[in-house]
Amino acid sequence: MRIGGLQKLTLIDYPGKIAAVVFMQGCNFRCRYCHNPELVVPEKYCPTVPEEEVMAFLRTRQDYLEGVVVTGGEPTVQEGLISFLDKLKRLGYLVKLDTNGSRPDVLKQLFSLRLVNYVAMDVKATLSRYDEVTNVRGSGVKIEESIRTIIESGVPHEFRTTVVKAFHPVEDLLEIRSLVAGARQYNLQKARIDGKILDKGLLAREQYSDAEFERLKEIVSGAMEPAYHW
Ligand code: SF4
Repeated sequence: MRIGGLQKLTLIDYPGKIAAVVFMQGCNFRCRYCHNPELVVPEKYCPTVPEEEVMAFLRTRQDYLEGVVVTGGEPTVQEGLISFLDKLKRLGYLVKLDTNGSRPDVLKQLFSLRLVNYVAMDVKATLSRYDEVTNVRGSGVKIEESIRTIIESGVPHEFRTTVVKAFHPVEDLLEIRSLVAGARQYNLQKARIDGKILDKGLLAREQYSDAEFERLKEIVSGAMEPAYHW
């Protein structure tokens, strides 16, 4: 297990729960807008936190924290994830997993072992444009399988897309919405485009204004017809 960080308290990352966040180091994608190079690019890795230190902290917070958010990087590429989640469950914690959906085989295992109480998956783009966003060839191949696995698991879940104007015209967001049909939740979040992102080339590209983004959210939630021209 490579743990890149521990946030001792969050009230917003696990819906309705008081939680801690464990950041895994390592990812099989290289999303152009990624804001966590220290968890993704080996040359920029931050110092790791020993697993025992994380467990020792969590043992002292069992009466106060309800859950642990396991995020990345990408948790499903970690050797030892099952045993780590099992330890969290044995301490009585609810587990929320954030994933990029590249490893449906791991998700199936985690669900069958009942190690996850909530899952949030990022859907990066339409399937035909996946590699353009992730910068990894073949990255979209297993995405549909992960989406179906999550929806059919019965585990509470949400899907989300981080929106960048260069990759996400309204038609594409509607296509992604169809891809996650049957999901309990599909949310959009506006990408933070600043000097920390992986692909600095995006800094020069036009971004959605806040007003445009609000309109996009209304369209994708079905509250507005997609007649607006961008
Ligand atoms: S945004 Fe992309 S590259 Fe960054 S951690 Fe998530 S999946 Fe990996």
